[in-house]
Amino acid sequence: MTPAKKDISPAISEIKACLECGDPIKGRADKKFCSDQCRVTYNNRLNSDDTNYLRNVNYTLRKNRRILVELNTNGKTKVSREKLMRKGFDFGYFTSTYKTKDGAIYYYCYEQGYLPIEKEYYLLVVKQEF
Ligand SMILES: [Zn+2]
Repeated sequence: MTPAKKDISPAISEIKACLECGDPIKGRADKKFCSDQCRVTYNNRLNSDDTNYLRNVNYTLRKNRRILVELNTNGKTKVSREKLMRKGFDFGYFTSTYKTKDGAIYYYCYEQGYLPIEKEYYLLVVKQEF
């Protein structure tokens, strides 16, 4: 005679919906998907190139902004390119640009901006209106 297995499955307190298709999930309370297919579809989308691309771009933009905030201590600060690079600033990513009448171009990461001034130097600025 084998000892009876203790029933350790948690009580189902509420009906949960599948994260992928929204169908009610039957079975264990910690399940997130109604089927293996839904689980696979969901995870594939989460890790798709599209998603990763956006995640990387967003991450780089936020990092750039954080660096500008950190270095721009008084609203208008002159910094060297080298200092920005050392912090990991990526000049390839910005959210907008602004060209002045005389042709100078401000680059913005959200509300934080920089203007190339003399060789290897930038003026950090903060956008006032949005
Ligand atoms: Zn499903």
